[in-house]
Amino acid sequence: MNKKEYIEKADKNLLHVYNRFPVIFDYGKGVHIYDELDEEYLDFASGIGVMAFGYGNEDYEEALITQLKRITHTSNLYYHVPMIEAAEKLSRASGMDKVFFTNSGAEAIEGALKTAKKFAYTNKGPGDYEIIAMENSFHGRTVGSLSVTGTEHYREPFYPLMSGVKFATFNDFGSVLANLNDNTCAIIMETVQGEGGLYPADKEFLKKVRELCDDEGILLILDEVQCGMGRTGSMYAFQQYDIKPNILTTAKALGNGVPIGAFCVTDKVAEQSLVPGDHGTTYGGNPLCTAAVSQVFDMFEEYKLIEHVNKISAYLEDVLDVFVAKYDFVTERRGLGLMQGLVLTIPVKEVVSKALLEEHLVVLSAGKDVLRLLPPLVITENDVDEFKEKLEKIFDSFL
Ligand SMILES: *Cc1c(COP(=O)(O)O)cnc(C)c1O
Repeated sequence: MNKKEYIEKADKNLLHVYNRFPVIFDYGKGVHIYDELDEEYLDFASGIGVMAFGYGNEDYEEALITQLKRITHTSNLYYHVPMIEAAEKLSRASGMDKVFFTNSGAEAIEGALKTAKKFAYTNKGPGDYEIIAMENSFHGRTVGSLSVTGTEHYREPFYPLMSGVKFATFNDFGSVLANLNDNTCAIIMETVQGEGGLYPADKEFLKKVRELCDDEGILLILDEVQCGMGRTGSMYAFQQYDIKPNILTTAKALGNGVPIGAFCVTDKVAEQSLVPGDHGTTYGGNPLCTAAVSQVFDMFEEYKLIEHVNKISAYLEDVLDVFVAKYDFVTERRGLGLMQGLVLTIPVKEVVSKALLEEHLVVLSAGKDVLRLLPPLVITENDVDEFKEKLEKIFDSFL
């Protein structure tokens, strides 16, 4: 079958909820992906922040193949070693105490919301507990995670959603205070807003929210599904803020390509929230996916990847800053580490599409006007140079 026939077959059989680009990706090696005609693309999107180690990493593949041949699924009624090891490594890397593995980021958010509600229930009894979420946030597409997602047009067709959600303005502490009441049980936010347009939390804002949560006895949920796992230059972005959440969500790069997420809690939250019977999943944390997580954490250490991210992101930032200086329609660079955005006054969708189809450069958009870059964490200076050349050609075509 040729490409056109494949795409026709896809459109016939797949529910149309994505306007996919007319590209069929077939395999990858390092930071490059190849289509069905073996044409090479430079990947600065990582499958939306997932492929931290790039494609075709032999250490990673070997760990998965070994596990695949041993056992892939047991259910959560029994113990298995990959989950035990992955949980220990995730706790060590995050500084949290207890882990629940999920199948996705949205499902990690669901678990975090249930945990926060149960924590309030345990301590205060039944009540109409409320969550303060942030405008411009993104937490997923399931009903609970959509309820705390701060984009009205994603939510509106699905009302009524989970009740008791109030939206505050990100990085505006007064607005958080204005939404607080006796029923508030948790505040949820991304440490660095991803889909909303690459906005890091202000240090002062996050510190004040942390203090408020402590004073009120409510929980701080930090969603690091996108900004976690080394992307911002620390294993979790909150580690650059001298604070710690009560609940942390993580996914995307956690499995480097197999579907897995997690929510992590402190001992205190664990002791006062979910108990047997309150929560569960059939697949979540299965041996195959947790073997991947375990291997991912080992590779972070082996490759000294956090150090690398800090070095290479400085190099990328310099390139992006040159774009800001050089092109009038590039007005700002925003982000942290290898989670970077360029604010554009030309149509972002067009830039993303041209980059992919004309220059074979894979990039993303975020918000209304941000070109979003989430390259594999293993990119080298050569890769950044190749990126610069390709994006320069695209930007020049808009002059
Ligand atoms: C992607 C994302 C999610 C949802 O994760 P899925 O695996 O797509 O369900 C939640 N929160 C943030 C911050 C994300 O970027």
